[in-house]
Amino acid sequence: MNVFQLPVSQAAVAIRPPAGAEELLMLEAAASPAALAIALLGRLAHRADAGAIDWHEMSATDVDAALLHLRQVVFGDAIRAGVTCPGAQCRKPIDIGFGISSYLQHHAPRPPRGVEPAQEAGWMRLCGADVSFRLPSAGDQAAAALTGDPRRELIARCVRPAGIRAAALRRVENAMEAMAPNLARNLDARCPECGAAVQVYFDPRRFCLTELREHAAFIYEDTHLLAQHYHWPESDILALPRDRRIRYVEIVRAARSAA
Ligand SMILES: [Zn+2]
Repeated sequence: MNVFQLPVSQAAVAIRPPAGAEELLMLEAAASPAALAIALLGRLAHRADAGAIDWHEMSATDVDAALLHLRQVVFGDAIRAGVTCPGAQCRKPIDIGFGISSYLQHHAPRPPRGVEPAQEAGWMRLCGADVSFRLPSAGDQAAAALTGDPRRELIARCVRPAGIRAAALRRVENAMEAMAPNLARNLDARCPECGAAVQVYFDPRRFCLTELREHAAFIYEDTHLLAQHYHWPESDILALPRDRRIRYVEIVRAARSAA
């Protein structure tokens, strides 16, 4: 079992790779990335002491960190992305690579300045100002994604009172960023050919879900082949660990091509 610690809540979490049922979820769910991440982690990740986690309640940072750990379990630590040099005279392909563990370490939470715990559990307040806030959860993000103005919705849910001045809101957002850093951010690189500065936006949630979805592409063919050959019910095939399912598929294919 793969165990890791979430950066914000510090909860120790165990995670398993997706089986067929989760692969179908990724392919068929018509949900926002936030809602899909919550549904997926709800099935694959629990507390290391076996308790359940309500991923709606976890910070977006912890959800993204858990997705990155899931990605580490399935594909390994190294992320590589190919981009094209923006230099008009160059346009050469650039290879950008980094490790998940060092990325998470680099963007670990820091103690916020100028805030103190508020009376209500989970809430903080700005020192010397009548402003309190809590960290947006993944559930807040999923709900905000359904509105026309997600940022406004998050502020309405997580900052009190309503309509605070811009300077106070900046202090709140700085404190939130320190306590629960946004893991979606620009990566800076340089073109090895012409030296041009290159910025690539890395969104762990979209990146990991896309990669896992592509990885799931053969679930229908695999299920069809095993059901046809062994006459197992669909639910049994979807519950197989992915590696074992692929072993069976290879055995059936080999047997058929030998026949
Ligand atoms: Zn270049």
